[in-house]
Amino acid sequence: MISVRFLGTGGARFVVAKQIRASGGQWYRFAPSPGEAPGPVTQIHVDPGPGALVRATSAVPPCELEALDAIALSHKHLDHSGDVNAIVEAMTSGGFRRRGALLAPRDAFEGEPVIFPYAARFVATRHYLEEHGGPYPINDVELRTSIQHHHGVETYGMHFRYRGTTVSYMPCTRFFDELAPDYASHAPDVMICNVLRYRDSLKVDHLNLDEAKGILAFVKPKVAVLTHFSTKMLEQGPERLAQELEDELGFRVFAAHDGWTLDATTEIAAAAGARA
Ligand SMILES: [Zn+2]
Ligand SMILES: [Zn+2]
Repeated sequence: MISVRFLGTGGARFVVAKQIRASGGQWYRFAPSPGEAPGPVTQIHVDPGPGALVRATSAVPPCELEALDAIALSHKHLDHSGDVNAIVEAMTSGGFRRRGALLAPRDAFEGEPVIFPYAARFVATRHYLEEHGGPYPINDVELRTSIQHHHGVETYGMHFRYRGTTVSYMPCTRFFDELAPDYASHAPDVMICNVLRYRDSLKVDHLNLDEAKGILAFVKPKVAVLTHFSTKMLEQGPERLAQELEDELGFRVFAAHDGWTLDATTEIAAAAGARA
């Protein structure tokens, strides 16, 4: 069973600063399905932005921070890392239990770090994410990174592979031609895509809806999720836009909202059933 709980779906400075949408990141949970071989439950918190700790503890049921296995940052920007030290403390019982893994690009640890050195020492395993890196094992989940994104700071996408299923997360980036083939090479079953912009032609380091659509059309996951919305996207109604994409692309497309949990296993099975 693979699920992804959205503790935040906001992107862009104003959405995050005003908390029009929350910015707590994504909580991945990997567990054996009934009837499968037994194995550990693995939980990974990806991109814990401002408010992540509050969102995680106040969720119903709450996220099990003391059972969290890993924290992974796609990049060091505030909306992806604001609560990383707070989540490290929660995962390690304030540093009294040295455990868990912390994975982030090197520039999140060094230079102008967003991960405090004291907090990094609380964690049992640290990995500097690199382009096309991994597999980084987290229990029996394998994390691999994408091509380096064009986003100002060191930024990598993530491919989580668990018992034959791949869930890919494409964080913020400017569009470039190598992006779609790189993600397609992992043949993700589920692709979670940060789509900050609607239909503008601004020269900024974020995808707009049409660029994201082109990438999804190339990668052809069974299920896609749009998230990390700006005010422009929210004005347009992400659910409506997701439905339009679904009609055009021919596979399931969701717009994430705060507190929503994607039951990836069920949605993949439903997609397979719909095709059969
Ligand atoms: Zn962002
Ligand atoms: Zn960013």
